[in-house]
Amino acid sequence: MTAEIIDGKAIAQALRHEVARRVQALQAARGVTPGLAVVLVGEDPASEVYVRNKGAQTREAGMASFEHKLPATATQAEVLAIVARLNTDANVHGILVQLPLPPQIDAAAVLRAIDPDKDVDGFHPINVGRLVIGEPCLTPCTPTGCVLLAKTVTPKLAGLEAVVIGRSTIVGKPVAQLLLREDCTVTIAHSRTRDLPAVVRRADLIIAAAGRPLMVRGNWIKPGAIVIDVGINRVAADVAGKTRLVGDVAYDEALQVAGAITPVPGGVGPMTIACLLKNTVDAAERIRQSLAN
Ligand code: NDP
Repeated sequence: MTAEIIDGKAIAQALRHEVARRVQALQAARGVTPGLAVVLVGEDPASEVYVRNKGAQTREAGMASFEHKLPATATQAEVLAIVARLNTDANVHGILVQLPLPPQIDAAAVLRAIDPDKDVDGFHPINVGRLVIGEPCLTPCTPTGCVLLAKTVTPKLAGLEAVVIGRSTIVGKPVAQLLLREDCTVTIAHSRTRDLPAVVRRADLIIAAAGRPLMVRGNWIKPGAIVIDVGINRVAADVAGKTRLVGDVAYDEALQVAGAITPVPGGVGPMTIACLLKNTVDAAERIRQSLAN
């Protein structure tokens, strides 16, 4: 058997088109243009690339993009002042503070300062709590993308045995909560899990988010399982001095066993920004609705 390859690039593009349609509808019906503000502190090259991509895709979807750049020497008070201003800015419906922040800034305090209704990263404790108790909320982008990708294979995930490898706050825990919301039977595995291959073999749906290159072998995978590989790991390539990206799953082996699998790159990665745009239009619709009530 050769697994279906889940084309994250194409699915993300379709999601961005759907977002663009919703943006047009909101503009036509209410005269509102959803706006996303991104705050970048310092000159981390990877963060600068992310922020540029986010800005370009935000504008492509017809939304307003606001970028606030501060030097690496910025103080916590300066960052909090920008967040406070964005919280009350009626043109801004989503706020994202690009992580990591320089060491003098308390990232948790900054994330807590964001209005939960504009928290398009879904990291505010209020949104984490809402997710756990099953209330509507903004949910973290990469985990949301994982669930959307799995649903392109099987629209109803209810009853599936899901194993999430990794328990971080940004991927493992929220994806487990989202799968619980889809009525999966969820196991969260981590570095202290005993006999990980045996745990993974139970899964109809595997979400691999450990950050360990090629850790999940083909013989860990139940035939026909859906494999969502979140890992992005840079490893040495066959050509001397070159590197390449691989996931947490031994892709070539898994391809022979799984029912469907996401590639790396081109799987989960492209979904993250698409889900950020979706969250921004969701936030704009909700804010608009609560103002109308
Ligand atoms: P973290 O390092 O924060 O968490 C990794 C988790 O994996 C931890 O819970 C850890 O367990 C667990 N883990 C580590 N080693 C093992 C092991 N040998 N067996 C079982 N569990 C293990 O990583 P993130 O959650 O931030 O990211 C995970 C991966 O996803 C990374 O490769 C990252 O680059 C990628 N990523 C991709 C994104 C995308 O857009 N596609 C977005 C975000 C992340 P413990 O808690 O016990 O230490």
